[in-house]
Amino acid sequence: MKKIQIYDTTLRDGTQGEGVSLSLNDKLMLAKRFDQFGIDYIEGGWPGSNPKDLAFFKEAKKLKFKRAKIAAFGSTRRAHSKVASDDNIKALLEAGTKTVTIFGKSWDFHVREVFKTSLKENLAMIHDSVDYLKSKKLEVIYDAEHFFDGFRENPDYAIQTIREAAKAGCNLVCLCDTNGGSLPHQIAVAVKRARKAIKAPLGIHVHNDGDLAVANSITAVEHGAIQVQGTVNGYGERCGNANLTSIIPVLQLKLKLRVLPEKHLKQLSELSHYVAEVCNMPVENNQPFTGQSAFAHKGGVHVNAMLKNRKTYEHINPSMVGNNTRFLVSELSGKSNVMLKAKEFNIDLDQNAPHARTILAKVRELEHQGYQFEAAEASFELLMKKELGKYKKFFAVKEAEVLTEKIGEGNPESRASVKLEVKGEEADAIEKGDGPVDALYKALAKALVRFYPVIQEIHLTDYKVRVVNPQDGTAAKVRVFIQFQDQTNNWSTVGVSENIIEASWQALVDAIEYKLLKS
Ligand SMILES: [Zn+2]
Repeated sequence: MKKIQIYDTTLRDGTQGEGVSLSLNDKLMLAKRFDQFGIDYIEGGWPGSNPKDLAFFKEAKKLKFKRAKIAAFGSTRRAHSKVASDDNIKALLEAGTKTVTIFGKSWDFHVREVFKTSLKENLAMIHDSVDYLKSKKLEVIYDAEHFFDGFRENPDYAIQTIREAAKAGCNLVCLCDTNGGSLPHQIAVAVKRARKAIKAPLGIHVHNDGDLAVANSITAVEHGAIQVQGTVNGYGERCGNANLTSIIPVLQLKLKLRVLPEKHLKQLSELSHYVAEVCNMPVENNQPFTGQSAFAHKGGVHVNAMLKNRKTYEHINPSMVGNNTRFLVSELSGKSNVMLKAKEFNIDLDQNAPHARTILAKVRELEHQGYQFEAAEASFELLMKKELGKYKKFFAVKEAEVLTEKIGEGNPESRASVKLEVKGEEADAIEKGDGPVDALYKALAKALVRFYPVIQEIHLTDYKVRVVNPQDGTAAKVRVFIQFQDQTNNWSTVGVSENIIEASWQALVDAIEYKLLKS
């Protein structure tokens, strides 16, 4: 079985994504985690462009990595300068890694327009830089920037640039679709040609501007690339980098290639959520393989078939990537959905047991009031456990208040106070927040944290409000969905009331009880 190397650039290219920003400590934590997961290369940063990245390499040296090699990223030397005195090259060496990745230009248009130098000098820049870094006994990966665009406009020159890198002794040539606009058949043609032209192994680094980054990466592997560069969850500039979270299971499960150490693929969903958590980004529900809805079934026909055999509507067994089958409960569904749900939560429920009927009746009654459980599974699980007597009360609310002042003055202030009874003791807290819901959540968390320190692990990631019955005018009810996240999971809860604060409070309390129940 052929081994495909995974080269992660979440810490460098991934942080170019809008909204992604990582502290030094975040980067070190992620690097450790990538190593445990079985990533072969971790690109830590670009020391020449960002002095902060040098600190990462300094700290990373103190850590022990089981399997991953840490790579520093940089560019070839500048035009008409000496490689040994080039600042960027010096910074690369200063990073002190055993592997360095440098990028150079393959597209003649860029050489002329951006470098404003001759095509010949560009070849010398590539050669000198690789040659010099090799003379320092480093493993050198050469990233051929804009290779595919260059290949389409001037194939001979694009090939010449990678020949130059190969001649200078680089360990791998990584072909880059930097602008992310190539199509799979274009990738195939160019990779084939590159393979014929040089002996050095090939890698692939693509961006997702045509929504084809995963397909393009897979195509490159099918045509001989042995390394895939990308990021977890596809974070990256513009539309992102190639999503390793999809590429890894495709290579391993569908193409039967060797990628991760045995059994590590089961950690994929957890890794995806962990990285999202550290990057402070949500995992999209419909993200393939690791998203919450990736194996969620709603339609009655599907559910019926799924009961007979899971393969009827699932392309892989979700447990292979650490995900789960989910059956969405909605008004459309009957008892069989509730039974499936119970199974999913490991609750033993007999089809004819009186509990099954009471749960179903309760769901219908609540749905009639405006609740919806398909996007609020945590509330549904709590409801089920309450009906079955499997629920334990963690705290009782004696009083909760929230006050918002200076509304309309641009910067209103919300202050909440809660009074709870926890484990026979009174617990009070007052907190300010960005709005009444935030204030209530903070006060609730503060009152509980000394009894349940796990509360510190969670935070609110999404909040949605819908009007349930707009035809009733001012008496309309609102439905609030709240999503929380910790390092391994996210879960959603629902509340319904004519009062938005009351609906939010119900969802908040459910969310916290759910976390406590799971801990
Ligand atoms: Zn890139």
